[in-house]
Amino acid sequence: MPENKKNKCSFCEEMIAPGTMSFMAQDGSIICEDCIEFFNDTLLGKTESPTSTNAQLFDKTDFDLTPKMIHDKLSEYVVGQEYAKKVLSVAVYNHYKKIKNNLSRNKSIDIEKSNILLIGPTGSGKTLLAKTLAKILNVPFAIADATTLTQAGYVGEDVENVLLRLIQAAEYDEEFAQKGIIYIDELDKLGRKSDNPSITRDVSGEGVQQSLLKIIEGTVANVPPNGGRKHPHQDFIPFDTTNVLFICGGSFEGITEVVQNRLGKKSIGFNSSVVKNDKSEKEIYPMISHEDVKKFGIIPELVGRLPVIAPLEVLEIDDLKKIICEPRNAILKQYKLMFEMDGIELEFDDEAIEHIAKKAHEQKTGARGIRSIIENIMLEIMYDIPNEQDVEKCIITKDVVLGTGKPIITKKNAN
Ligand code: ADP
Repeated sequence: MPENKKNKCSFCEEMIAPGTMSFMAQDGSIICEDCIEFFNDTLLGKTESPTSTNAQLFDKTDFDLTPKMIHDKLSEYVVGQEYAKKVLSVAVYNHYKKIKNNLSRNKSIDIEKSNILLIGPTGSGKTLLAKTLAKILNVPFAIADATTLTQAGYVGEDVENVLLRLIQAAEYDEEFAQKGIIYIDELDKLGRKSDNPSITRDVSGEGVQQSLLKIIEGTVANVPPNGGRKHPHQDFIPFDTTNVLFICGGSFEGITEVVQNRLGKKSIGFNSSVVKNDKSEKEIYPMISHEDVKKFGIIPELVGRLPVIAPLEVLEIDDLKKIICEPRNAILKQYKLMFEMDGIELEFDDEAIEHIAKKAHEQKTGARGIRSIIENIMLEIMYDIPNEQDVEKCIITKDVVLGTGKPIITKKNAN
């Protein structure tokens, strides 16, 4: 095999860095560490757990990346969302610069951190961006859903448990955990006063927001070492959240109208209708302000602690097509690998991809629907094919996607 091929992952075609894990199959194809990880996570359905690599990476945290380098690395995994990627890259670059300053002995002033608020529709890549950032920077990462968090004393999850998850992701290396990233999803749901009378706990009230505010602005929190509820006789882990980067996310449904109204109102008596109707959604997103976020019931103190707003856009059909095929861990690449392991070449033709993207677009759940659409299409095929002899190639066409036909199968030695 030529030298350059030997160092390239046959799956994502990235160079395999010396010293990283890789696996070579009998036919000489190699799979890199990243692809093994995504393969495990996605196809074998493993959930995220504290990985041993985090500990090994302690000395390898990559805080020397420039914003452009962060942006470009994000782009290997996240399609589109250029504005959000730029805002995030700069914010994260500054964040780790601040940490370096704050940790330095010669520091003259403490620089306050700038946590980030991602605003964008469901399935547009908010969680993926946060997760990918942590991966790029080699820092521990934890996710929490704001709707499951509760104020102390109520049934639900204490905010401190989120910190425990971060500590666990750092394999109980607290110093390492303090440089980590926590993603808090569905922040907007905390502001909404619940219309559901059956929900009696304080999911919507200010209590959770106040608890979040404390850890986000930086405090020494008492973390219960075994999770669960706090117990008065328990020994806690004191954990300083000063340097932890918090990224909050939410769809803030209807926020573009709030912006439109704000812009419109501001220009009353000054050609207001033009301002109001002229702007496309794409133009509106970068204009989202902290004032608009407050309208969703997020307390001003918390909004103030999220100075960076990174808006994401609705993914269009072309974006969805790219998401199916292009990212390093794209779902098609994963399926291709699965088939390759059985010696079968899998192909999706262009029309098939277009129709999968269209179906996902109709569901209005961003890229979220793609996986289940493809899984549905592939179930029967993956059930049948291992029973067939000498299959060389399997082509998925538009008809397969629409459920009106079978894949085109070619066999070895077929005349
Ligand atoms: P959100 O947090 O905005 O609701 P997620 O980040 O959880 O959405 O996206 C769900 C899934 O959809 C991700 O795991 C990823 O596979 C895919 N996805 C969403 N947006 C993108 C994107 N912009 N680029 C690549 N994949 C994406």
